[in-house]
Amino acid sequence: MITIKTKEDIAILREGGTRHAVILRELVSMVRLGISAAELNDRAAHLIAEGGDTAAFLDYHPYGAKRPYPASLCVSINDEIVHGIPNETEKILKEGDIVSIDLGLVHKGLFTDMAITVPVGTISPELTKLLEYTKEALMAGIKAAKGGKRIGDISAAIERIGVAHGYGIVQELSGHGVGYDVHEDPYVPNYGPAGKGDILQPGMVLAIEPIFNLGTRKIYLDSDGHTYRTADGSPSAHFEHTVLITKSGAEILTQG
Ligand code: MG
Repeated sequence: MITIKTKEDIAILREGGTRHAVILRELVSMVRLGISAAELNDRAAHLIAEGGDTAAFLDYHPYGAKRPYPASLCVSINDEIVHGIPNETEKILKEGDIVSIDLGLVHKGLFTDMAITVPVGTISPELTKLLEYTKEALMAGIKAAKGGKRIGDISAAIERIGVAHGYGIVQELSGHGVGYDVHEDPYVPNYGPAGKGDILQPGMVLAIEPIFNLGTRKIYLDSDGHTYRTADGSPSAHFEHTVLITKSGAEILTQG
């Protein structure tokens, strides 16, 4: 069921989204050679608790998963697409890696979702472009979102950029409604025709999140039960914002 958030909900989501962006910015500033994914996770947990909020992904049990997610933060490095676990095996960031940091925040009972992929040290020109164009696809998706348009308008705007640059566009993972829960209806796929799908209504809150692979779109689930990886081992990038649909466009809630 697609939910429409009230004015009061939106005020809380705006406040939570601002906190969320501030936390993510601090985590991004910590990314450097030699830091571990576990340190990023610990810092995220500390910053979230300091604000009196909770981590949406910690203990979250996706339908069909064999166990709940064990960390506050998802840290996905190189061929890890999403849901990389930071605190079970030692993962140290190396020169030339790309790392996706994905956080879900619960503030006063309401959920926001945000991710960014950043370079570690100096990365190759092709990885620089992968990050740039995946972020561009996120912004294009947001620009296409507006009351009266359709979900497919967001999908098509994202897909156009991925196709233009020859990236593998992951189909099994997608954006989604968010706010009252970690994942709500509707799905917001990163591919598909414009003008199709549910109508965007003011008050809808969506997590828009393009995921592009440098190689093919094929993926698999790691034996840890959470981490999705590219089938061909190629690096993958992921950018995400939580947005509010309005009559005139989409307001990014996760910025501060
Ligand atoms: Mg999400």
